[in-house]
Amino acid sequence: MTEFDDQRARMVEHQLAGRGIRDPRVLDAMGRVPRERFVEPSLVASAYADGPLPIGEGQTISQPFVVALMIESLGLDDDARVLEVGTGSGYAAAVLSLVAGVVYTIERQAGLAGAARRRLAALGYDRVHVRHGDGTLGWPEHAPYDGIVVAAGGREVPRRLRDQLAIGARLVIPLGRTRRAQNLDRLTRTGPESYEHDDLGEVRFVPLVGRAGWSEDRPGGIPGMSMWGQWRRPVADTDDPG
Ligand code: SAM
Repeated sequence: MTEFDDQRARMVEHQLAGRGIRDPRVLDAMGRVPRERFVEPSLVASAYADGPLPIGEGQTISQPFVVALMIESLGLDDDARVLEVGTGSGYAAAVLSLVAGVVYTIERQAGLAGAARRRLAALGYDRVHVRHGDGTLGWPEHAPYDGIVVAAGGREVPRRLRDQLAIGARLVIPLGRTRRAQNLDRLTRTGPESYEHDDLGEVRFVPLVGRAGWSEDRPGGIPGMSMWGQWRRPVADTDDPG
C-alpha cells in the first residue's frame, strides 16, 4: 500500500463513513480514485485534506465529503447516464463514472476542460465525456439523464437542466441568493411538470456563471474563493471558513 492509498482509506473511513455516507458503491469509488492525480503538483501532500483545494483559474476541487454527499444523494444505478455541470479537475466525474454507466460533464473554462479531458483519458476513465461550454444549458443530445450534479452555486435550478432530467431522477445543485453561500438543493422530477425539493444543508461553492446562472461581471478574485466547495454544517473536525 502506498502512502496515498493509506491516506485515501483514512479519508473514506473518517471524512465519509464517519459522517454518514452509507452507499457502499460511493465509498468504494471514493476509495479507488487517486485524488492526488487531480490536484496541482505543489498540493499533492494536501490531496486528502478535509476541504477544497485550488485548481487554477480561481476554481476549486471540492471537499471529498461534498463530492460523496452529492453523488450518494442521486441514488444512481450501475447503468445510469449522468450529467455533471462544472468538470473542474475531473475528479468528481471520475468518481461518478465508477458509480454510474456513463458521465457527460461540461466545464466553462477552456483550460480546465482541456486539462480534465487529458487527465481522465490518461487515467483510463473512458466512460467520461468532457465538453467545453455553458453547462446551464445542459447537454440535450444525451438527455434524459438519470442524475444531474451541478458543482457550482446558482440562484435557481436552470430550466434546461430540469427539462433534461428523466422522470423519477434527481438533480443536486447549490442554490443561494448571493454568490457567497448556498444550500444544497435536491430536486426529484416526479412527473412531466412536477418536482420535489429536499434541503441537504449549507455549502459554499464557486458561482455558476452562465446564461441561467450568475453574470460574468465579477470573475474570480472574491476573497476566500479558494476555500469554496466546502460543507458548512458545523462538524467538529471540519475547517469551516465561515
Ligand atoms: N467537480 C469539480 C472537481 O471535481 O474538480 C469541481 C467543480 S468547481 C467547485 C466548479 C466548476 O464549475 C469550476 O471549474 C467552474 O469553472 C465551473 N462552472 C461554473 N459555471 C459553469 C457553467 N455555467 N458551466 C460549466 N461549468 C461551470
